[in-house]
Amino acid sequence: MKEEKRFQAESKELLHLMIHSIYSNKEIFLRELISNASDAIDKYRYLSVSSEGKYPPKEHEIFLSTNAEERYIQIQDNGIGMSKEDLEKNLGTIAKSGTKEFVEKMKEAKEKGEESLIGQFGVGFYSAFMVGKKIEVFTRDLEGHAYKFESDGVETYSIEDDENSFLQDSGTAVRVYLKDDEDDEKYGDYLKEWNITHLVKQYSDFIRYPIKMAVTKSVQDKDEEGKPIEGKYHDETEIKTLNSMTPIWKKAKKDVTDEELASFYKSRFNDYEDPLLSLFVKAEGTLSYDALLFVPKHAPYNLYSQNYEKGLALYAKGIFIEEKNKELVPDYLKFVRGLIDSEDLSLNISREMLQKSPLLSKVEKNIEKKLVEKLKSLQKEDPEKYAEFYKNYGNFLKFGIYSSYGAKAEDLQDLLKFPHLNGEKDITFAEYKEGLKENQKAIYYASGKTVESLKMLPSIARFKKSGEDVLFLTGDIDEFTIQMIPEYEKLPFKNISSLDPEELGEEEKKRLDVLKTDHKRILDDLSTALAGKVAEVTFDLGLEDAPVAIATKAGLSLQMESVLNENPGVTPEEKVEAEKVLKINPDHPLFAAIQGVTDEEEVSRIGHVLYDEALLAEGFDIEDKPAFVKNLNALLAKAYPPKEEGK
Ligand code: ADP
Repeated sequence: MKEEKRFQAESKELLHLMIHSIYSNKEIFLRELISNASDAIDKYRYLSVSSEGKYPPKEHEIFLSTNAEERYIQIQDNGIGMSKEDLEKNLGTIAKSGTKEFVEKMKEAKEKGEESLIGQFGVGFYSAFMVGKKIEVFTRDLEGHAYKFESDGVETYSIEDDENSFLQDSGTAVRVYLKDDEDDEKYGDYLKEWNITHLVKQYSDFIRYPIKMAVTKSVQDKDEEGKPIEGKYHDETEIKTLNSMTPIWKKAKKDVTDEELASFYKSRFNDYEDPLLSLFVKAEGTLSYDALLFVPKHAPYNLYSQNYEKGLALYAKGIFIEEKNKELVPDYLKFVRGLIDSEDLSLNISREMLQKSPLLSKVEKNIEKKLVEKLKSLQKEDPEKYAEFYKNYGNFLKFGIYSSYGAKAEDLQDLLKFPHLNGEKDITFAEYKEGLKENQKAIYYASGKTVESLKMLPSIARFKKSGEDVLFLTGDIDEFTIQMIPEYEKLPFKNISSLDPEELGEEEKKRLDVLKTDHKRILDDLSTALAGKVAEVTFDLGLEDAPVAIATKAGLSLQMESVLNENPGVTPEEKVEAEKVLKINPDHPLFAAIQGVTDEEEVSRIGHVLYDEALLAEGFDIEDKPAFVKNLNALLAKAYPPKEEGK
């Protein structure tokens, strides 16, 4: 019985985009279908080795054929096949959560005229509608039932039983009926032997199963005695394997060209760009394995979303086990793509057991180590490329330190870079250390929203004068990370807005003590006025031109406070508050002006205005704007009383 079904809305939209694709690389449909065929064989082989004889091993191949009269190209495999439900689920709908985003991006890409994103999203099968006006899928499932799926990719598809299927065994044949040729697009070329041979070499050479096709070759005629006849030829067909099959990761690094590596990466991991980095790992020991790791040039579009799945593809003895094994890479390296293949993993181990295998966590450690080493050598040898890496993934390194509570600081800290006061280029801690002033005993940093605002901080004046450098932490995660690093080569990290007077040197400390005693009354009055807002009011001798500054007690800084509180999920109860300190510049004329003020209401006004001003100077918002305006107006009115007539 033939059942006619409608594509679900999202599929339809995607198909529409495919059919009307302006994507120039329509040929990748072949790679996609071959890759599906290879996956289907992988799945069969996995079942076969793990099912104890229920599914006997067989010789696997992917067979390509064409029919010039009917204008179709067929890709046939003897893999796992599909049941009726599979057909419906896999080809009739797109179950993937990323599809909506994909459709959006495709539209965007089309508008911008950019390279398309097909493949990055695993919409492989539908890509055949870029070249095909009709597609038939013949399949036989593991139970021996055969079906035929058919669609023109517009509104509907049909599925019917296929009792007389030409498929002898489990597997699938996808038949793409090519569109009519157009001026700028010769779809008929996909029927041509030379073209198919070329495309397979280009895109699918490393597929681990033979991709075969009947090819014609010209053979010299022979006479009765079997001697070749000069100048006389005839055509013969033979079945030829088009791909070289050796998995690229089994080869030695020196035997693989950069182009081969890039082309493998793109087809295996569905990216349309060459990788930024690639790394061969060959490990011998308790567990020997070959791994091939890549860092994509651009972070995957959903890297920051909840549904991004990290992991490396896992093969045992060349047999595919699973696509994303999470145990193989730590969270902070989740952007790494790649695969590992081990001769030592038992094949009939279940995927669940594999997940708890201590072997895998050993592999993870080693892979992490190799990647970090690779990044360190890149930083030295190709700073420009490292900068590109860092721009995309630097936050993940910081996250690595933060999420390990500093356990990974030793390994990762030298990979970090920050903007700073004494130069334009970002620097590492090591570079900071090189510029250390005599007697400087800490790495100083300031945290805030932008480098520009940090350069204007009142508390930075002291450093501009002394020449001591200050790192600028402007990323949300930066200061949280720094706080997880106990020290860098014996140098502690200090936020310049929570420096202890103890650290300022004898003379400064002495003067501060005197000031505090002399002006105890006004300090106390201001403290009272600002109760609940600041924990302390005190002096600072390094503010230069600024009358006041806000500092925080060690621990939570203003910047951390704002990062935590601006987090979308934070409830009012979860809001945190940094312990703030209002610092007054005793040498500023403004202080001289307010010293003698005793009126309680006026002290309060002055206190609030100074506090708000200090917040503004640090690049933060005033909490209560109407109150600020009111206070300021009252103070101005007091300062400039109306002149009496005649005087
Ligand atoms: P993807 O391959 O990224 O999952 P596709 O749209 O190419 O996406 O295929 C959807 C699904 O259809 C596959 O995941 C697979 O389950 C099934 N499928 C496609 N081609 C075959 C095939 N040749 N044999 C068996 N199953 C297939």
